[in-house]
Amino acid sequence: MAGAGRGCQKIRGSQIRDVLDTKHSVLFDCDGVIWNGEKAVAGATEVVSLLKKQGKNVFFVTNNCTRPRENYVQKFSRLGFTDVAQEEIFSSAYCSAVYLRDVAKVQGKVFVIGGHGVYKELREAGVPFVEGEADDPGMTIVDCPLDSDIKAVLVGYDDKLTFLKLAKACCYLQNDDCLFLATDPDPWHPLREGRVTPGSGSLTAALETATGRKATVIGKPSCFMFECIASQFGVDPTNSLMVGDRLETDILFGANCGMDTMLTLTGVSTLEEAQAYKDDQAPEKKIYVPDYVVDTIADFLPVIEDNE
Ligand SMILES: [Mg+2]
Repeated sequence: MAGAGRGCQKIRGSQIRDVLDTKHSVLFDCDGVIWNGEKAVAGATEVVSLLKKQGKNVFFVTNNCTRPRENYVQKFSRLGFTDVAQEEIFSSAYCSAVYLRDVAKVQGKVFVIGGHGVYKELREAGVPFVEGEADDPGMTIVDCPLDSDIKAVLVGYDDKLTFLKLAKACCYLQNDDCLFLATDPDPWHPLREGRVTPGSGSLTAALETATGRKATVIGKPSCFMFECIASQFGVDPTNSLMVGDRLETDILFGANCGMDTMLTLTGVSTLEEAQAYKDDQAPEKKIYVPDYVVDTIADFLPVIEDNE
């Protein structure tokens, strides 16, 4: 659907069936769409199973880089999704590893600001990297050793970030041949009881300011995650649907990749926010308008059950 004509159309019943009938693949964001934290969205397990039974490709695309995909498989199964395979999960940590191995073909080591999820995926992809080393506490950026074999800096969510790690990344990025990558652009994440934590995007911004460089972003809304799916499964964006709860990442991602988009109201963004983008006079805001809106993906259930 052309950007200017996106409808923000609230749909139900047979309208949902009409949309799904034209799609071979459905991509779901995870948090706010199929689960909220440690609780599956009611009906989501059945929706995923039934779509798969009907022969649709189902994929999960998440900017969360804190877990490796095998931990996602465990989470899916813990929450009652019994038929989700690791190959169907595309996280920003996994896709960053694929990018470094297959696209950048980095010859040397990657300096990582990140955690377990990123380390595990890099290790599995065979990409050499340097973890946030346990530096001697007395050491500073003036006297710490630097690794002359670092050819890329990858920034993800890191709750053990130190000033020294940030300073080392700045030093490596002074070399223009050193790649600068970010797992995802997420500015912050909600925690329990109104607390928040800064996301990968804010750590990346610190380095962008310090170095005057711009990071290549792997996660949504960049298209690389879709390119990963397309190259492994031969998926065509024109018969794929992106379902997400955040207009500025999920819906923009779908639009950037040429997919139809659906906002579900079980997460971050509201129908009013989507409508405000639609009503905005500025043409560049139209890209945040979803084609379709549903209250929850459980609204798929009556129509896909009928099709059985
Ligand atoms: Mg989400």
